[in-house]
Amino acid sequence: MTRLANPPNLDAALKQGLNGHGLTPEEALSLMEGGDLDALLQAASVVCDQSKGRTVTYSKKVFIPLTHLCRDYCGYCTFRADPEGGVPPYMTPEQVLAIAEAGRRAGCKEALFSLGDQPERIFPEAREFLRRRGFESTLDYLEAVTRLVLDKTGLLPHSNPGLMGAENLHRLKNSNVSLGLMIESASPRLLRSGGPHWKAPDKVPTLRLKTIEEAGRLKIAFTTGILMGIGETQQERLDALFAIRGLHEKYGHIQEVIIQPFRAKAGTRMARAPEPSIEDLQRTLAIARLIFGGEMNLQSPPNLASEDYPLLLRAGINDWGGISPVTQDFINPEAAWPQIPILAERTAAAGFVLRERLAIYPEFSSRPGFVDARVQSELQKLRCEDGYARKDS
Ligand code: SF4
Repeated sequence: MTRLANPPNLDAALKQGLNGHGLTPEEALSLMEGGDLDALLQAASVVCDQSKGRTVTYSKKVFIPLTHLCRDYCGYCTFRADPEGGVPPYMTPEQVLAIAEAGRRAGCKEALFSLGDQPERIFPEAREFLRRRGFESTLDYLEAVTRLVLDKTGLLPHSNPGLMGAENLHRLKNSNVSLGLMIESASPRLLRSGGPHWKAPDKVPTLRLKTIEEAGRLKIAFTTGILMGIGETQQERLDALFAIRGLHEKYGHIQEVIIQPFRAKAGTRMARAPEPSIEDLQRTLAIARLIFGGEMNLQSPPNLASEDYPLLLRAGINDWGGISPVTQDFINPEAAWPQIPILAERTAAAGFVLRERLAIYPEFSSRPGFVDARVQSELQKLRCEDGYARKDS
């Protein structure tokens, strides 16, 4: 007698995922809790292939860490810093332009601005820097430097500055081709004393969802996702994915979902916390593919899966995220990005074609109302007819 790989309820859930309508929360949970991983990966691959074919994308970017100051103290973060004598609180406009220009010369098309959240709320050094230059907040300063980079270099800014209100989002849209905010986790439990989001007031899930919702109202192509393995339960992990799906169903503005695995970093409160396995990452990615269906862009960064990263292609991802030939990954400085020719080779060996995209995905770049006119004129210089990056721009 042939033994079934999955009990009937899991097979029904897989079938539901395969029909492309998206899993229900109950089906997703049953697949998260167990069942044959190979069958799950196969279903995710089929759904992905039907919409995305064999193309896997990346964006050639420079990483600009405008400030490491942050009012939050996430238990896993080595990016943040408190003010220190002799260390400037922010990069100056000249420093920002120098990095962006180096990126432009290396063929980059995206200027990724990553920074700490609202440092001026707690650090006088940050307030003083901003006041001397005529800015009230970090987000005001960000708006000015992203405008400068767009105007002077033609690189397309994409900023991840933490929580943003409607007014900030509206103004940042004038100089950013897209914006991002990881929800990280939908679990308020993680904010408890000693938890990963203890002393991190900007990690309250409802506040993060509010920013993502405002971006939807304003028609901003938006990047979000989860940081998996920081202590959330399987149910909580899925709650975050379903919250993102709910907002996307309402506003249609989520251009990609990132699933990022937690990595334990020396010198942090979570230095000894266990990291998720590659199988856990594959399972979560495959379930995310079945939750969102084939149309969503699903990303997992190759540098966080070490040499095993081609295995993620089996789980239905279609994007590697931003790769920089110029700057390091300041969020994960211990994990170098693969060189682009090697990424292309390994992607090809797995049966896929690597293609460069812009910081806005093809399906959003010509959608009415999604790109500001000034940004659109720079975008046109970099995009080819089908919306991907022009080869030799
Ligand atoms: S993860 Fe982001 S919000 Fe949290 S401490 Fe680091 S920089 Fe701040």
